Amino acid sequence: MTSLSLNSIGVEKLRGVGPLLSAKLQKLGLYSVQDLLFHLPLRYIDRTKITPIGGVQPLTEVVIEGEVRGSDVVFSRRRSLVCRVQDHSGLMTLRFFHFNQAQQQSLQPGTKLRCFGEVRRGKSGLEMYHPEYQLLNQAQPPALAETLTPIYPATEGVTQQRIRDLCGQALRLLEQHSIEDWLPAELVNSHSNYSLVDALHLLHNPPPGTAINLLAEGEHPAQQRLASEELIAHHLSLLRLRQKIQLQAAPALLPNQAAADRFLAQLPFTLTAAQQRVAGDISADISQPIPMLRLIQGDVGAGKTVVAALGAVQAVANGMQAALMAPTEILAEQHRVNFETWLAPLGIRIAWLTGKLKGKAREVQLAAIADGSAQIVIGTHALFQEAVVFHNLGLTIIDEQHRFGVHQRLALRKKGAVIDTEIDEEGSTPHQLIMTATPIPRTLAMSAYADLDCSVIDELPPGRKPIETVVLNELRRNDVIERVRASCQDGRQAYWVCTLIEESDVLEAQAAEATAQELQLLLSELSVGLIHGRLKPKEKVQMMQAFKAGEINLLVATTVIEVGVDVPNASLMIIENSERLGLSQLHQLRGRVGRGSQSSHCVLLYSAPLSGNGAARLKIMRETNDGFKIAEKDLEIRGPGEVLGTRQTGDMQFRIADLQRDAHLLPEVKRMAIKLLQDYAHNVDPLIARWLGHSEQYGQA
Ligand code: ADP
Ligand code: MG
Repeated sequence: MTSLSLNSIGVEKLRGVGPLLSAKLQKLGLYSVQDLLFHLPLRYIDRTKITPIGGVQPLTEVVIEGEVRGSDVVFSRRRSLVCRVQDHSGLMTLRFFHFNQAQQQSLQPGTKLRCFGEVRRGKSGLEMYHPEYQLLNQAQPPALAETLTPIYPATEGVTQQRIRDLCGQALRLLEQHSIEDWLPAELVNSHSNYSLVDALHLLHNPPPGTAINLLAEGEHPAQQRLASEELIAHHLSLLRLRQKIQLQAAPALLPNQAAADRFLAQLPFTLTAAQQRVAGDISADISQPIPMLRLIQGDVGAGKTVVAALGAVQAVANGMQAALMAPTEILAEQHRVNFETWLAPLGIRIAWLTGKLKGKAREVQLAAIADGSAQIVIGTHALFQEAVVFHNLGLTIIDEQHRFGVHQRLALRKKGAVIDTEIDEEGSTPHQLIMTATPIPRTLAMSAYADLDCSVIDELPPGRKPIETVVLNELRRNDVIERVRASCQDGRQAYWVCTLIEESDVLEAQAAEATAQELQLLLSELSVGLIHGRLKPKEKVQMMQAFKAGEINLLVATTVIEVGVDVPNASLMIIENSERLGLSQLHQLRGRVGRGSQSSHCVLLYSAPLSGNGAARLKIMRETNDGFKIAEKDLEIRGPGEVLGTRQTGDMQFRIADLQRDAHLLPEVKRMAIKLLQDYAHNVDPLIARWLGHSEQYGQA
């Protein structure tokens, strides 16, 4: 064995790899021989043995052998060649939609065949569509595969055969050179006794008899060995990030009871016990000279905003600026209105910045932010993307973080740090508060937010009545319209939410417009408003103000109102095509009602027929208002990537691990990560690099 690291041998050193192929491999994230070793098969097919037809399970891929009993060209929906093959145990039908005469003639009764393909249950019992097949006319039948056949993630221009060959070369190099096992033997986890090298060999070339069903489920001990290593690497990357940030200095924003009391005294309500507890956490954190990294979870309507405002008041009382970022213009505007109402009596000035603010107005706001005359800055992500110069920024608050995803959170934090060093000679980092209404199931939270402390507002303000939810077929639309009429005539207000499956805000806006017109015709005595993503920011703001003021009875909206919108008098929500939305989105939308003291209702309209998942989602919505329960179910139905809202950005996309399947590994993963940091600090960076090396978001965060 030599100590040459497989990490330093580029793929271009392998036989058959030129510049062209090398570029294609890079697209798959494959730069070195080590990358190839960790490029593991998506699945396996078993061509090592012949399965008796009688023992074949539908929906599996198998090799069978038998004798042709008959073959005919059949004219049903499509012209097809149907061939029946029999062995000692049963009968299988082969179907070919593309075939030629020679093929047809070769499949004469009595011919012996070996076929490989996926088996389905069809009209005539077990069937294979377009199997691969060989005629067995030689005395010596061709050899079967010696190992399970791996199927790798591939890309255009890189065939399975090619990847298999390259991985084969990489495995031979693995025999000559060592690969460092960054998990010390004493820590290797109890879920698997595979060494790293053995696990890699097995997963690239599973010997015959390897439990293919375990492999398919990702539950083979060799997979579990690598999955826990991968989870440890992810966990470490977040802990490392946290360590780095906590090495930085932050302004100690000391509690100021007088300022807090003045703020609380003019609120029209008192804080709940949960709000007080979480406000206490924040106050204690930001009084320290190290940056706070805290996540506030609280179901929709739990009252997170006021808790954040209290933190901002503490920053301002220490002569520092605070910034609040919201994911949408509407929400940012609403925060501005709330903060102004709450903070103007305290003489605190607020600046306001969104991407759409232009010209003179923008200059005025930027100047107020830069010279510190604005003590609180509220806006969208424009706050962090533009050339905004803060003045002694002491606290950043990110609202509805789930809309941004892990990736953006890290990016923002980086941006925040850059901004600070530019404005603050002492290089101090602002405290950071992150708020989300999407409750994160505990297992996920542990992985996705290992770098954050967590507080939960687990209590709703008093007097809230649970929202009653009904699920109705879209054919009952007229009844629902009558219900809207009755409710609005009673002095309440309602939302009517239009959803579209296409990611087109133009189409969505058109659909909402048409619905608004139709509803205004049918409900001529009511005032119907319309809000969608295509309106100018100013128009959106005016519409929301009119609705809040009660000048509009029924607000037709697209999902732009999903987050944060707060109009307590609105007590009825209709969601059209609700079967198209995910659970967390439905829960967010529904959270727009049930904010006042009267009982609220939510009507989920659907068009039949419902898919299995669609029906399951609507049933959960009808049964519970509890955001945590809904999040757990959401995780079951959709899987972790989507629950964290990061599917598109590719974050939290593990190569082997699956947060849901491997949840049982997480407590040990956490322990081992901490142990590695403490006792094996040198192993940490190479371990992170092995698993996350090419994903820039963790690279140098
Ligand atoms: P979310 O946690 O969803 O962001 P908000 O901060 O928008 O919730 O609060 C929802 C509503 O509840 C707002 O109208 C807010 O003023 C009100 N609220 C917040 N805290 C309390 C409380 N302790 N008692 C009564 N109402 C409250
Ligand atoms: Mg909110």
